[in-house]
Amino acid sequence: MKCDVLTLFPDIITAYLKESILKRAQKKKLLEVKTYNIRDFEPGKHKSVDDYPFGGGAGMVIKPEPLFKAIDFIKKDGEPRKIILLSPQGKPFDQSVAEEFSREKKRLVFICGRYEGIDERVRAVLVDEEVSIGDYVMTGGELAALVIIDASVRLIKGALGDERSAEEDSFSRGLLDYPHYTRPREFRGFSVPDVLLSGNHKEILRWRRKEALRKTLEKRPDLIEKIHLTDEDKEIIAEIKASSKEDA
Ligand code: SAM
Repeated sequence: MKCDVLTLFPDIITAYLKESILKRAQKKKLLEVKTYNIRDFEPGKHKSVDDYPFGGGAGMVIKPEPLFKAIDFIKKDGEPRKIILLSPQGKPFDQSVAEEFSREKKRLVFICGRYEGIDERVRAVLVDEEVSIGDYVMTGGELAALVIIDASVRLIKGALGDERSAEEDSFSRGLLDYPHYTRPREFRGFSVPDVLLSGNHKEILRWRRKEALRKTLEKRPDLIEKIHLTDEDKEIIAEIKASSKEDA
């Protein structure tokens, strides 16, 4: 996955990329990120990238010129690119969009807005896709770019120590993840479920599927409606419902 991030705060991006799995993914050449400061493309003497909005109103707007110049500059190498504007008005980012981005052959260019946002002509002329990470408004697009890069990179083969981690994560199979336990077996009077210590892999698999179904039914029943349930899943769901009726 190859990315260019256009931002007024490049240190936010580089600081996160220096750690953990994203650092390793870059070393393994699974991820390449070039960060550009939008201010470097502002031709004015004062390097001021924002200006008052026409028509009045609160806040400032990022001017079109530095962004057009930045995009012209990065496009000079001729590599195909998909230009993504981070915006609360964009298409919602989720695991399926992360999968799409993790397979994307084009370089992904992330434009991080600030203030009231960017001049509309940038969106209209340059942008291929507008993406939002949720229905809330942040002060800038940097965290959104990092969220998208992080969630997409962990889906690239070889990025995680064990491939199965991403396959079993919440949403990858349409369900929430099952519960995890580690040592000690007993902690403050709470013990690890016996089945996980049994060594019976078939039973462990069934227990995990049951707990994933249980968590999803409890916390996100909307997800269950979107997946294909096997006959065994239906049987497990019936068991869960019967035992919760008994408990009530
Ligand atoms: N006035 C804009 C609006 O209401 O649509 C919000 C501007 S916001 C304060 C500044 C920048 O933060 C945006 O241009 C965008 O790049 C980024 N941003 C804020 N919330 C976001 C979200 N939920 N998803 C993606 N980017 C976001």
